[in-house]
Amino acid sequence: MNVFVLNCGSSSLKFQIIETDADLIEKDADRQLAKGLIERIGSEAIVTLQVGDNPPFRGAQPLRDHKAALAHVINWVMAPETHIPGISGLSDIHAVGHRVVHGAERFKGSHLIDKSVIAGIQECIDLAPLHNPANLKGIFAAIELFGPAMPQVAVFDTAFHSTMPETAYLYALPYQLYRRFKIRKYGFHGTSHRYVAFRYRKLTGKQRKETNIITVHLGNGCSACAIRGGQSVDTSMGMTPLEGLMMGTRSGDIDPTVIEFLMHKEGTSVDEIFSTLNKRSGLLGISGLTNDMRDLEGEAEEHQDRRAILAIEMFCYRVKKYIGGYMAILNGTDAICFAGGIGENAPGIRKRILGNMEWLGVEIDDGRNAKAIRGREMLISSDTSRVPVYVIPTNEELILARDTVRAVKSLPFPG
Ligand code: ADP
Repeated sequence: MNVFVLNCGSSSLKFQIIETDADLIEKDADRQLAKGLIERIGSEAIVTLQVGDNPPFRGAQPLRDHKAALAHVINWVMAPETHIPGISGLSDIHAVGHRVVHGAERFKGSHLIDKSVIAGIQECIDLAPLHNPANLKGIFAAIELFGPAMPQVAVFDTAFHSTMPETAYLYALPYQLYRRFKIRKYGFHGTSHRYVAFRYRKLTGKQRKETNIITVHLGNGCSACAIRGGQSVDTSMGMTPLEGLMMGTRSGDIDPTVIEFLMHKEGTSVDEIFSTLNKRSGLLGISGLTNDMRDLEGEAEEHQDRRAILAIEMFCYRVKKYIGGYMAILNGTDAICFAGGIGENAPGIRKRILGNMEWLGVEIDDGRNAKAIRGREMLISSDTSRVPVYVIPTNEELILARDTVRAVKSLPFPG
């Protein structure tokens, strides 16, 4: 089957076309046929489109909404000069898989989209006002443009964490608030943590039940996950993606009193404060320079910029603290796995996070660590390290495509 994987953000659309099916999954032989990204939807959009490993096409195009952006992609996919192997018409796309950010307690796995699933995603908007509406725009646009007969599947970021126990997911608030409003930790990046755990099993030959690891996704958004017996038992993001680690522009954990304090001191509205916590904090907020880790490392190294150094130190300190906490709740860990743009490409950051943890059995091999860049799956710990450390480049789109096939063909879903 050729699956069109769609990931819609508030002003962006990412897609991949992946050839996959039960036998290809079995052989790990799925094939990415094309991919692309449209940014700044709503104005002069920036379009990047690529077939296989060919050089990408980049251009600008006025695209007023997600439907116009998807129509642009479909026209490109179908154009005879595009030449995507195996695709000459719309009938060569067999299903669409959507990334949906928040599934709350309702969605514990991936689902074939029908009216009730759409209503369920709409009900979760309260919990994810920034994300679910964009995901729904993608779903509605795809139903319209691919036609109602095209099977569409929703894959939720929260689903992998639905196995967390109450002890981990409840906030210590009056219990009625959980009962009435479902205020609790849900966790995100679930497809990424799930993919990394799956690859860890492939690399080590372990069974799901034997998978006791810590996965750390460090991109623009960052989260850590404690996995016991192949299932998520705790994760750092919360009811929304704002909780937990320090991120590119998000604060991560803060004392909630800061919000009230700022409201009084500066007369700022709640919306304005949350905008600061989501968009002007984290690496950007502390450095005052950028949310981009590459640039921060450059500033720290070339100009010894004090706040760039501070931002990097705080970032790594927070990750170390979560890893330490998860080692405690897991009774030790069989491995630590890094993913995400920073986790996959920044040896200096990985070293800083896991330095001085020899007493916990973690020893980084500097040579291996330096080589683990640009999407290389690698062991980066020394041979004497009691806890192996891996870099495992994430591939959320592959999980989306595979779950789409499974949902369409009623195949079982592995975790
Ligand atoms: P998103 O969460 O938006 O998918 P990514 O996973 O692509 O983001 O990660 C983006 C982050 O990865 C940025 O902070 C970027 O600076 C960082 N990054 C990418 N390459 C490198 C590198 N070579 N060294 C350090 N940081 C990097």
